Amino acid sequence: MKYIFITGGVVSSLGKGISGASIGKLLQLHGLTVNIIKFDPYINIDPGTMNPYQHGEIFVTEDGSEADLDLGTYERFLNIYTTKANTNTAGDIYKTVINKERQGCYNGATVQVIPHVTNEIKKRFVSFKDKYDIYIIEIGGTVGDIESLPFLEAVRQFRLEKSPHDVFHIHVTLIPYIKSAEELKTKPTQHSVNKLREIGIIPDMIICRTEHQLNKLLRRKISLFCNVHENAVIEALDIASIYLLPEKFYLQKVDLLLINQLHIKPKKKFTTTWFNQINNSNILHKPKFKIAIVGKYAGCKDAYKSIDESLHIAAMSLQIDINILYCNADEDNKLIDTLIYCDGIIVPGGFGYRGLNGKLKAITFARKNNIPFLGICLGMQCSIIEISRNVANLYEANSTEFDKNTKYPVVKILDDQKNITYRGGTMRLGSYKAIIKKHTLAYSLYNTGTIIERHRHRYEMNPAFINLLEKKGLIVSAYHNNILPEIIEMTNHKFFIGVQFHPEFASRITQAHPIFIGLLNSILNTKGK
Ligand code: GLN
Repeated sequence: MKYIFITGGVVSSLGKGISGASIGKLLQLHGLTVNIIKFDPYINIDPGTMNPYQHGEIFVTEDGSEADLDLGTYERFLNIYTTKANTNTAGDIYKTVINKERQGCYNGATVQVIPHVTNEIKKRFVSFKDKYDIYIIEIGGTVGDIESLPFLEAVRQFRLEKSPHDVFHIHVTLIPYIKSAEELKTKPTQHSVNKLREIGIIPDMIICRTEHQLNKLLRRKISLFCNVHENAVIEALDIASIYLLPEKFYLQKVDLLLINQLHIKPKKKFTTTWFNQINNSNILHKPKFKIAIVGKYAGCKDAYKSIDESLHIAAMSLQIDINILYCNADEDNKLIDTLIYCDGIIVPGGFGYRGLNGKLKAITFARKNNIPFLGICLGMQCSIIEISRNVANLYEANSTEFDKNTKYPVVKILDDQKNITYRGGTMRLGSYKAIIKKHTLAYSLYNTGTIIERHRHRYEMNPAFINLLEKKGLIVSAYHNNILPEIIEMTNHKFFIGVQFHPEFASRITQAHPIFIGLLNSILNTKGK
């Protein structure tokens, strides 16, 4: 087994996850099996309770763990299914160590960062049940952060314990461009690598995020000051689509470098078919269709990362170009002015009352004007409220999330749900099966009657209102266990669908999700290419 560590320097948000996933893709194309593990140095046990403004979307794995959004990138690129073992935080690691101390597992030793915390980290580097040829281990945060230290120390120790041909270290850094001097600067990278070397780690490769190409001289300078071979100074220029990155790395022979240094034997002949597919689907087509995402985190694109990627993947597979507009549900007086120019509307998942009125306004607008609409999780719950109020005339209809004593609790926490074994507090988390009714829009999209999709919510559509709402044109087209509504749709509408689950977590580059394909197809059918 071989281990590739990825750290980041200078600033955060350099795309370590995308770099790791792209390298993983290249190695997969050589026939190797790859998995990626993420370590986040923050003290939260998992990111489930974190504000999306700080850390972006919460990704949900099939086994119901609430994880960093990088796991979504890994799944989409590598077509793997991540689990709880793919996501680790300092909080979770410290919790394990403290629990062990309370249980007396350390036989009276003084429990310390070295060796107890570092041992727990190292244990998790190798704790995967399934065996893979390559493990890519991404250490979150930036080198130089206090929180990262135990993780980097664990990497240093791990390297010493393994053969030099089993471990490879990649440092992803920024090469800033100084406009007034018209120059790319390597100094921040030099400092960052110095910081790593202070800890005892000498990177084997530097991936340089840059807005401009690195010339030979610059590569030589980075090589000299950072003590890596010149061919291991890799350029990562800003690109139109992240899915083009594996090819950019391939052209710089990143895969060969890894294969040589780690003494890996490729298991199949490398072909460039995957690159060709990506290139073909990335050719931009006109016109651009505009899709609005109406949510309360409109200022933070990362909060809707998987929806954004799912839409782009679906657009790539239909060979169309789309433009996603993030609309602030909180500013509902300006909302309709924007929605008028949109070809499709999505109300995504969310928690809490803020932005509810804007979301309801967007749904009314989509329903009345026959604009393709997709409501995800809270978005489906909002569409049930909207239809109850404005079609079924239950004016005070609401979710008990927003009004505990509402006269018409069309969305609520159900008694039936209490039989479900909850993880992460009271949430319904992870994959659940749903059965779809025949002759519905949902059935035509999935082309099958049984689906498995990922959930992250507490509230459900109240079954007591299904009969009444079905008389008004709503259809519940899928159920979990014959009780819990999973998909709703509207008759007399081009495409109006609400899903209680998160289809965005199941998109793959090689397999766009039928719900997103359906939404874009309904736009295409009206407007043409
Ligand atoms: N707040 C809603 C619930 O808990 C919806 C959650 C979501 O959209 N993920 O049921």
